[in-house]
Amino acid sequence: MDKRTKFTLDEEEIPRSWYNIQADFPEPLPPILHPGTGKPVGPDDLAPLFPMELIKQEVSTERWIEIPEEIRDIYRLWRPTTLFRAHRLEKFLDTPAKIFYKYEGSSPPGSHKPNTAVAQVYYNKQEGIKRITTETGAGQWGSALSFGGACFGVEIKVFMVAISYQQKPYRRIMMQTWGANCVPSPSPETKAGRAMLEKWPDCPGSLGLAISEAVEEAVSRDDTHYALGSVLNHVLLHQTVNGLETKKLMEKADVYPDIIVGCIGGGSNFAGLFLPFVKDKIDGTKPDLRIINVEPMSAPTMTRGPYAYDFGDTAGLTPLIKMFTLGHDFIPPPIHAGGLRYHGMAPIICHLYNLGFVEARAEHQLATFEAGVTFARTEGIISAPEPNHCLKVAIDEALKCKESGEAKTILIAHSGHGHVDMAAYDAYFGGKLKDYEYPKEKIDEALAKLPEIPGE
Ligand SMILES: *Cc1c(COP(=O)(O)O)cnc(C)c1O
Repeated sequence: MDKRTKFTLDEEEIPRSWYNIQADFPEPLPPILHPGTGKPVGPDDLAPLFPMELIKQEVSTERWIEIPEEIRDIYRLWRPTTLFRAHRLEKFLDTPAKIFYKYEGSSPPGSHKPNTAVAQVYYNKQEGIKRITTETGAGQWGSALSFGGACFGVEIKVFMVAISYQQKPYRRIMMQTWGANCVPSPSPETKAGRAMLEKWPDCPGSLGLAISEAVEEAVSRDDTHYALGSVLNHVLLHQTVNGLETKKLMEKADVYPDIIVGCIGGGSNFAGLFLPFVKDKIDGTKPDLRIINVEPMSAPTMTRGPYAYDFGDTAGLTPLIKMFTLGHDFIPPPIHAGGLRYHGMAPIICHLYNLGFVEARAEHQLATFEAGVTFARTEGIISAPEPNHCLKVAIDEALKCKESGEAKTILIAHSGHGHVDMAAYDAYFGGKLKDYEYPKEKIDEALAKLPEIPGE
């Protein structure tokens, strides 16, 4: 029996370019629209928020975009990350399936997020920016950007969704350790925050609202830009460093996946892994490859939302993005997978879903924790609540293989560890974790507030 468990690359094999799927789409992405005019936004509209290099990446159709050496040098701190064969999970499930997982939990902040955080801080610094504002849900993105700020000496200000600020003090302390300033959102520091606090003093916050606050502060100061941890094309681009490594490693292991599963909040970690593979499906080399996006039942963006233009934030400050959306007014229930509570989804994933290249599935919180505990007791890794969602689907698919006798190869995008999420596991063991399914009327209510497109 082949016992090989870890597949690794040398530091010199860290990819030298990111892969840009926009070069290989059969149809181009729908443009991002200006909410005032209904016309596609230009670089000047985005310049108050982002450095020009990132704006160029956002719309580029070049297939390969070189990774600057300064960024690769920081990547060396934890990349390339390891591909694991889940022998012990396979044995426990008694399945003929071959299960692999690419693990991003070994980065300093414990997830995939520094892959883009480091790159974004670098390009801002190149343009002379001294401060970057951002939002964070579970605290993963805020801590990744804080780490990026520490790498390049740039000041970071984080608006953290209030419910997570209370539930996850350790993430805040991590941000402080890396030198950042973290405040709960809604905060009294911005108009958007004050307006919400007046209406609802105990508002648990939402990612959309925290984005409004961070954007508002960035546009009001010349030395300050804004950074987004997911959704946008350039973020997914930076994450492809992971998929490119994975493709090389799967070749080393002499396998090609039949099924790839990952969890989606804004879509960046999973897209980063699957984009170099979906290319093979688009060009017809691997027509049978299945790519399954897993989201929570409590924020069922892809499985329940329409494909429509919507704002990226609650206050309606961002451009209009065509995506599957639950409406920018959507405030999700406080499930523990904070990173999966966003109302929208990366346009790149939505486009691929709309064209039929990827699938989507929604899972209940409780079932995902059960899967996470099974994974911890077999593979050892205690996963963040987010990847527990795709572990559930991977286990289901492996059990289907047990029934059918097929030895399929399943590849899991494992986005991070759960060492700062132990309160969620405590709730699970204490029988306090609930299943949240978002009520249909509430979704309809939020969808009724989708913006109108000027000129249509
Ligand atoms: C933020 C986060 C996610 C969700 O964000 P995506 O952009 O969808 O990847 C998933 N897993 C972990 C561990 C995270 O920190």
